Amino acid sequence: MKKKIFSLIAVAAALVLAGCGEAQSDASSAGATPTSSKKATSSKIPSSKHEHTFNEAIWEHNEEQHWHPATCEHGTAKGSVADHDFEDFTDATHVPVAAGCETPGKAFKKCKVCGYIKEVVIPALGHNFEQVANTTVTAEGMTEWYQVKCSRNDATGIGFSALNYVDSGSTSSNAFGNKDDSGATLKMSKNGNYVDYKITLTNAMPNVRIWMHGWVDYWKDSSNHNDTRGFFIGQDGSEASETDSPNFTFTVNDENVTIDNRKTYEGMGMVAGENGNSAFAFVPVGNTALKAGENTIRYARTGSYNLNIDAIYFINTAA
Ligand SMILES: [Zn+2]
Ligand SMILES: [Zn+2]
Ligand SMILES: [Zn+2]
Repeated sequence: MKKKIFSLIAVAAALVLAGCGEAQSDASSAGATPTSSKKATSSKIPSSKHEHTFNEAIWEHNEEQHWHPATCEHGTAKGSVADHDFEDFTDATHVPVAAGCETPGKAFKKCKVCGYIKEVVIPALGHNFEQVANTTVTAEGMTEWYQVKCSRNDATGIGFSALNYVDSGSTSSNAFGNKDDSGATLKMSKNGNYVDYKITLTNAMPNVRIWMHGWVDYWKDSSNHNDTRGFFIGQDGSEASETDSPNFTFTVNDENVTIDNRKTYEGMGMVAGENGNSAFAFVPVGNTALKAGENTIRYARTGSYNLNIDAIYFINTAA
């Protein structure tokens, strides 16, 4: 089996080599030759009189432009070169897919001039959760929570304000979660700070995904690496890698949740090379389970970047 594959590769390689050889000899006669032959050529046909000729029946293209290929000896000359002029396109094999809350969609664009078709990715929309009327629950010593439903699809779950914690891991002033200047978000001022939430459910929610709504501060580090990290610490200033850590830990009923989304910076509006704040974003961070009865949830800051969150959601997922 392997031998057969290798022999096929060898044949393909030989074909490629033959093609290259041909192209090279064409190129050398076309102008990459020594000065002497160039002089001879120019004495016969003055360069000022030569006009490239093109095959106007054919369009060649790259991702940005199209052009007619040359039919004279100047193989790299391009006729009528211009940017593509795209319009929406669909046919039996190019079927657009609408973006969902969590799944990206796609569309197709076709150049009106040359016919080049490209696929365009439409980013996932994100859920648009709305509080279900009259479901707010308030109990003594408990976090106030409410049922939510996405206006775009069937996703349902529960949510609560990040400011509505019931306990804090600090006794020193200004060390636990504080409301930010506007009073709208929970802002941990030191690593190790944490807050606890408690919610009591009638029915278990065995498969839920944790979503956090918030924003982060970000700065260039001493190596001028931008902090495109979102809720993750990207040590090299780029997309968080396997060795990078989240800026926070999330514990449900004393079990640490695996933070699995390392691309939380996407959609947070971070600008490479600039200091500032991300946009408010609603991002999934990991999966967990909630039981019937009282659930204890702990949210702690571990990374050195300010996290500002205003809401935490547990959204039901397929098993
Ligand atoms: Zn020419
Ligand atoms: Zn085109
Ligand atoms: Zn949705």
